[in-house]
Amino acid sequence: MFVMDFYLGIDLGGTGLKIGITDPAGRIVYKQTFPTSVQSDPDRMVKDICACIAEVIGRSGAAGKKIVAAGIGSPGALNPLTGQLIYVVNLQMLNGYYLSPAIEKATAIPTFLDNDVNAMALGELFYGAARGYKHVIALTLGTGIGGGIIVDGKLYRGATFTAGELGHVTIDSNGLLCNCGNYGCIERYAGRDGIVNRFNAYYVQKKMASAIVKHLDNGEITPRAIAEAANAGDRLACMVLEETGELLGVALATMVNFMNPELIVIGGGIANAGDLILEPARREMHKRAYTLPAQAVRIVQAQLKNDAGIIGSASVAVDAIKNKT
Ligand SMILES: [Zn+2]
Repeated sequence: MFVMDFYLGIDLGGTGLKIGITDPAGRIVYKQTFPTSVQSDPDRMVKDICACIAEVIGRSGAAGKKIVAAGIGSPGALNPLTGQLIYVVNLQMLNGYYLSPAIEKATAIPTFLDNDVNAMALGELFYGAARGYKHVIALTLGTGIGGGIIVDGKLYRGATFTAGELGHVTIDSNGLLCNCGNYGCIERYAGRDGIVNRFNAYYVQKKMASAIVKHLDNGEITPRAIAEAANAGDRLACMVLEETGELLGVALATMVNFMNPELIVIGGGIANAGDLILEPARREMHKRAYTLPAQAVRIVQAQLKNDAGIIGSASVAVDAIKNKT
């Protein structure tokens, strides 16, 4: 009997634990979301995660399928070689914990760990917008801005596995103070708070008209809500996205000059606004970057959307197995 290779993707997000099984084409055959276990004891937390994994495998009918390996995408600083989490803001009880070895031991499935943005970059490389490209920057625009770097078709992790902190490219040396200690990081302008604060400066303080109330995201003004309003033609939302795109373009020019990528893939909630943000970003990048690399690079929306977390995490496993053989 022909047995296909399946992978397990474990997305250790702040809002929940997403687990899914992907087929060889990177399609999710089964997935489930669990509330994040908040045990203070890491061993108990791992037990909970393994129970969720067992539930997913059981319900997916994957018992007869071969799960080659599992990949974990986690926020924060970590060591992908040893599988140790070093510092994760949302899951501090796991700081210092060797997560992937513990899960591998409990499930008997080879398990690999990497950060969530590297996972997203690999997902786009194997199954999404970056298929067929060799030199790629992947960005996620969310609460913060994360980056993943593909060089010569391989993920570039750097000396301490922190390569790709592209949210902290400076666009204004005297700009807003960032959590990282630097001033004027692009994350402070095109991350969640930067976008929402700029929207509110026009909407609340300057009382400019907007139909944003029709598009609220769980009752809140979020980048996603602004993107939806803009897609529905809201002028203020469009203007704020245009400004955001221009600021992003300033940072992209630095990235393009630095790395000469063929492709920049942009994901995360605000990227759903598509060309409303990407077009001003492209324009600004072209104004500022060297001509040759600027002409060579394409700036596109990520393809994996809502499933990026699970498919990306599974891709960490696909990548690890690929590099082993
Ligand atoms: Zn910063």
